[in-house]
Amino acid sequence: MGRSEQLFEQAVKVLPGGVNSPVRAYRAVGMAPRFITRAEGPFLWDEDGEKYIDYVCSWGPMILGHNHPVVREAVEKAVKDGLSFGAPTRREVEIAQLMVELVPNIEMVRMVNSGTEAVMSAVRLARGATGRDKIIKFEGCYHGHSDCLLVNAGSSALAGGHPSSAGVPEDIVKHTLTAQFNDLSSVEALLDAWPGQVACVIVEPVAANMGVVGPAPGFLEGLRKLCDKSGALLIFDEVITGFRLALGGAQAYFGVKADLVTFGKIIGGGMPVGAYCGSRALMEQVAPCGPVYQAGTLSGNPVAMAAGLAQLTYLKDHPELYDDIAAKAAWLAGRLRKAAEAAGVPVAVNQIGSLLSPFFTPTEVTAFVDAKGSDVGRYAKYFQGMLRHGVALAPAQFEAMFVSAAHTQAELEATARAADAVFAAL
Ligand code: PMP
Repeated sequence: MGRSEQLFEQAVKVLPGGVNSPVRAYRAVGMAPRFITRAEGPFLWDEDGEKYIDYVCSWGPMILGHNHPVVREAVEKAVKDGLSFGAPTRREVEIAQLMVELVPNIEMVRMVNSGTEAVMSAVRLARGATGRDKIIKFEGCYHGHSDCLLVNAGSSALAGGHPSSAGVPEDIVKHTLTAQFNDLSSVEALLDAWPGQVACVIVEPVAANMGVVGPAPGFLEGLRKLCDKSGALLIFDEVITGFRLALGGAQAYFGVKADLVTFGKIIGGGMPVGAYCGSRALMEQVAPCGPVYQAGTLSGNPVAMAAGLAQLTYLKDHPELYDDIAAKAAWLAGRLRKAAEAAGVPVAVNQIGSLLSPFFTPTEVTAFVDAKGSDVGRYAKYFQGMLRHGVALAPAQFEAMFVSAAHTQAELEATARAADAVFAAL
């Protein structure tokens, strides 16, 4: 038994499922998780000393690769001055100024500690600002684990949904309406059914929690129009796409304006951070300026702000990096398609910017229903095979692969060769 297996045996006795976040338990791929000791550039090392090319990248934030010296040194310097003050600091102002400069249509920023918190707070703000209770989300989009967003589509979508977790009262999710990603008519039907009652439409501008599914042409623009017509606010949940698709995120990439934007991990460079942002008029509805309450002891934590400021400043100073990582992801997507085709394995590879994911299905994947058609058993075998070849992928089908600036052609080619072998053996 390897050290990861030994540690996992101990872990399950003291941590539910042996982990602090469910997907890490590798249940979807039927094996014990690797326990990681260290990461550098595009690589991870586990407790047994095995080295992997990493496409999880801490689920997104490591866009510069792991342990980037600029981010690490900023953290080391900040740590020397103390870990938390619970008081304003200069770096909070600087990072907010930088975000306002880089992201279209935002004038103010409120820092929180996770993507979950960012979205939960943005939804509260949307409700507070509009005086409406209903919200519309999309089936297959994930927005963190706050009560009102843990919802399955109801059998009749026009009624509210059902809780997708125990512990979430029906009464709370009755206000959460579920539409279909890339289907404007499903949104329109909900807005018509609840006239003047929908506070916001929240969307991942590129869905990255059903695997990667980009918005169909006109979809985001259509959401904007429907929101304008109904008075609902449009929230872009950019926890994945923010500072990744482009410096200005999805709003810049697609040229569509959102009313509120949420960010997560990537603005912390690997430290725990989230933020919600919008116009001054909206953001000044938040305490202490306005009636929407939200607070946080560790919000704007000085060490996290130092990491985030260093990462965002580096991205701003190296804008060429975006074309580079997108080109790498496009190359890899093309090579994975070829590998699958050569092996006769039906695979649809979606790629947009530096995000990609293979679905084990013969059809195109442009909607949640297509994504759900992927053969998850095959994905599990693919995952296991790739891991044996030294490539660490997301341990579940319905996640993204993240390419970072640290992945070089050498790692991409090694990944493609591994895929040749693994597809051939499927
Ligand atoms: N929104 C989106 C789009 C996400 O992908 C995630 C998690 N990856 C979240 C919100 C929740 O973020 P966190 O895990 O930091 O709470």
